[in-house]
Formats: sequence, structure tokens, C-alpha cells
Amino acid sequence: MPEKIILLNDLRSPLLPVPAAPDAPTGLLSDALGRPLHDLRISVTDRCNFRCVYCMPKEVFDKDYAYLPHSELLSFEEITRVARLFIAHGVEKIRLTGGEPLLRKNLERLVGMLRALPTPSGRPLDLTLTTNGSLLARKARALKDAGLDRVTVSLDALDDAVFRRMNDVDFAVADVLHGLDAAHEAGLGPIKVNMVVKRGTNEDQILPMARHFKGSPFILRFIEYMDVGASNGWNMVDVIPSAEVIRRIGAELPLAPVAANYTGETAARWRYLDGGGEVGVISSVTQAFCQDCTRMRLSTEGKLYTCLFATQGHDLRTLLRKERSDAEILGAVAQLWRGRTDRYSEQRTVDTSGLARGKKVEMSYIGG
Ligand code: SAM
Ligand code: SF4
Ligand code: SF4
Repeated sequence: MPEKIILLNDLRSPLLPVPAAPDAPTGLLSDALGRPLHDLRISVTDRCNFRCVYCMPKEVFDKDYAYLPHSELLSFEEITRVARLFIAHGVEKIRLTGGEPLLRKNLERLVGMLRALPTPSGRPLDLTLTTNGSLLARKARALKDAGLDRVTVSLDALDDAVFRRMNDVDFAVADVLHGLDAAHEAGLGPIKVNMVVKRGTNEDQILPMARHFKGSPFILRFIEYMDVGASNGWNMVDVIPSAEVIRRIGAELPLAPVAANYTGETAARWRYLDGGGEVGVISSVTQAFCQDCTRMRLSTEGKLYTCLFATQGHDLRTLLRKERSDAEILGAVAQLWRGRTDRYSEQRTVDTSGLARGKKVEMSYIGG
């Protein structure tokens, strides 16, 4: 039984320090391990209508769980300002996430505001969103019209009983598939479908999912179950290594590896030898990709996290609300990135208890 987790709006996030003499952004920031800042993941809500057993288990996220009050959330204007400053620092890709991002009211308004941001290179910003798909059928068209490029949809099983058990709110597979079709029709592609594989829970869905999405417009990716947060009771024995996923699929549907699209691509790609498209595997546990990790994360209430496994955020919201200047915030962000040394997944061992000093933040709060 996972232990009860602490409130998230706690005191673990010191104010992001503002350097005395901020320097102008060059778009060429690099962290202590030489990694550039390219991506920003923005969590727009800590709420979700699912209770996926590996992310927001019901016994922790129950009716007494204290979600953030609305006043604590960054407004769309505040998020857009942060995004504009990150773009000045070289960010080219923004992913909206959560919680379930489509629960945030009028999200398409935020999408439109982000879309309107100019980039230093003149190349359009890559603007994407990760969703559980439950509200996609209703929202796909408005999101596309507002300027969203594409979506990634999480789906952990094709079998309805398995899926209902995993989302733990009795949500049907058919409704997510309907959302996927709506997103495809709206032109929100290329659409990726992410399946978290947990041993003994949905491993029997690997092949049905592969068969279903083979030859479809959707790119299926298998994600190793990770030890994010403090509430999912993670254990290494529950992880099915990606190599095993590929072996199981390849035994029925022969596969060959494909070269990466770009450095830092998190998914290793495999193509079906019969021309039926490709699948990807994200080996966050067995083959860490920290050396190429170019992501900063912005939590729902404006804390910056330099790693998914961080135990501490850096309070940016206070700077925004204390009317600090753009130059000051740019300087603060640059200083934070330059000092970044995170490489949790490369250091992870079977026993993760000694690694993170303090309690890791929840995935539903920081975003995937
Ligand atoms: N609610 C949205 C969704 O489910 O797509 C967006 C947020 S969710 C936290 C983002 C991604 O994180 C999802 O694809 C989810 O499956 C994945 N995720 C959550 N907990 C995970 C874990 N323990 N290990 C691996 N992936 C996880
Ligand atoms: Fe919600 Fe996404 Fe977490 Fe599932 S994985 S509980 S849909 S935030
Ligand atoms: Fe990036 Fe941290 Fe994940 Fe490594 S563990 S890939 S540094 S988010």
C-alpha cells in the first residue's frame, strides 16, 4: 500500500534566484553536462479524470486529496510569458501536459496564445499535447484550429476489461479510439499512442496493441514503467524491458531497427519488415537517455523542474507575480539551466531508495 503523499504546494521549492547581472539570451544555453535547452513541458492542471494505477492510484488520490486551488495555477497569460522567455533561450518545442490537460478550461485559448509567439529563427514552434484521449473527440477540432500541431495519446490496453482496470474509473477503450480518430480527422498528426507496460498488469496487451496499430496512421510506442513520484509503489520486477517487448512483437511480426530522426529522440524506432509502419520503445529504465535530455518542466503552479525525478522545484511564480522584469527572469532561468547536473535515470539502480533524497514529485503534477 503506497504511503500517503504530502501536499504538493509545500515548502520544498525555494525561490528561483535572480542573478545580479543577467545576460541577454543567445539561444545557446547549455547545462553543466553540455546539454542544450530545447524543450519545455508545461503542466496545465494537476487534476485528472483517470486514476491510472501507476500514476494516480485511488488510495492516494481519493476524495480528500488536496488539489491546487485555482488561484495557485499559473494563468494563461503567465504561462505564455514564461513560454516566450524560454523560446528566447532556445526552446523550440512545447508540450502541454498534466494531469489531464484537456480538463483545463478553454485550453484552446492557451494554444492560440502560444501559437502566436514568434521564434528567433522564424521556424514555427513545435506545439504538442499529451492526453488520455477521453475528451479528444470533443476538443480535437478546436485545438487544431487554435494552432496545435499534434497530440500524443496514452492508451494502455486494447482489451476493455484490462483498460478499465488500469484507468480505474471504468473508462472504455472505444471512447479513446474514437478520440484518436477525431484527432486524425482534425489533422493533429503524426499521432503517437503511448502504452506504459507493467508486468502482470497489461503485458498481454503488447501484441494486441501492436496488431491493432500496425498499418494505421498512429505510431505506437511502448514505455517502460518508471519509478516516478512516491505513490505508485514502483518495483523493478514490474518493469518489462523494451528489449523484451521488441522480442515478443518480433516473434510474430518481424521488425528491424530504424535510425533515430534526431539526436535526443527518446524513442528507439523499429519498422515492420512487411512495410506495416513502425513502433517505438522508450527505455527510460533500462537504457537511460539523460545525456540527451534537453527538457525543462514547468509545474501547474509555476515551479521549474530540471528533471522528471526531481525532489525539488524552483519557484518561478513568485518572480512572475512580483513583477520581475523579463531580463531578470531570463537571467534566473539561464542560471538554473547552467547549473543543471541531473541524470537520475543513468544513476538509478534496482534499489532507488538512496538516490532521491526527499520525496519525488508526482507525474500527474509535473507532467510526463
Ligand atoms: N493525462 C495525460 C496522459 O495520460 O496522457 C498526460 C499526463 S500523463 C502523466 C503523461 C504520460 O505519463 C502518460 O503517457 C502516462 O502513461 C505516463 N506515465 C505516468 N506514470 C508513469 C509511470 N509510472 N511510468 C511510465 N509512464 C508513466
Ligand atoms: Fe491521469 Fe495521465 Fe496519470 Fe493516467 S497517466 S492518471 S490519465 S495523468
Ligand atoms: Fe532527463 Fe531526468 Fe529523465 Fe534523465 S532522468 S532523461 S535527466 S528527466
